[in-house]
Amino acid sequence: MRVPFVAANWKMYKTVHEAVAFAKQLKNAAKDIVDVEIVLAPPFLAVHAVADAVRASGIAVAGQDLYWEREGAFTGAVSAPMLREAGAELVIIGHSERRRLFGETDETVSRKVHAAFAADLTPIVCVGETLEARDRGETLSVLDQQLTRDLDGLSSEQVGLLVVAYEPVWAIGTGRNATPEQAAEAHQHIRQRLRAWFGADAADQCHVIYGGSVKPDNTADLMSQPDVDGALVGGASLDVTGFLTIVKTTHRVAASKRT
Ligand code: PEP
Repeated sequence: MRVPFVAANWKMYKTVHEAVAFAKQLKNAAKDIVDVEIVLAPPFLAVHAVADAVRASGIAVAGQDLYWEREGAFTGAVSAPMLREAGAELVIIGHSERRRLFGETDETVSRKVHAAFAADLTPIVCVGETLEARDRGETLSVLDQQLTRDLDGLSSEQVGLLVVAYEPVWAIGTGRNATPEQAAEAHQHIRQRLRAWFGADAADQCHVIYGGSVKPDNTADLMSQPDVDGALVGGASLDVTGFLTIVKTTHRVAASKRT
């Protein structure tokens, strides 16, 4: 059984000081919550300090991106080994904001995924369709194309370890979440594809999480869908009370799915 997984993507919000204050508050408030994987993805500058703040709490830290080379003349870039040494255990790759605003492609996503594994970082690979693609009825074929390219060359063992985040682009930061039925269809499709391409064990172990305007009041409906293993939360993760509510709700719904 997959442990429910809830990650906070803080994007370009929170100074080091603000990030550490949040992490300490969450660590204290979540100390009795077990059987749920909680991840904080602060801006690069705060990765080290947040990792220190949550040490020995069960809360993990993720980078929001990386560059695939280990080191070199790549001004502004951060490598996978650097993130790992700073205390990150995971890294978000291929977020739609990186694809749309910074020229990320499926080819660069794939290079980053391999670099993450080489540095012992768990990739959280983001895929999802635009509104135009959904309106044209191309959602599932877009997912197929992204997954084929983004996961190219991975072993079944690696796929079993990674996290796929289904994030419909039209739902990110818009306040308009996918309906539970839309999420269920996409998640079921992703799981089937993983099964066909990488085998039953990999598909059963891989976490497939939903992202796109997850809020405390829509978490239960989204998380109750069979193949939804958790959430990648943007805006609603900036407030510790709201984020904790999402974590607790995900935990409760996952427990009821098991019975
Ligand atoms: C995200 O940034 O991955 C995200 C899902 O953002 P939001 O929750 O704000 O839509």
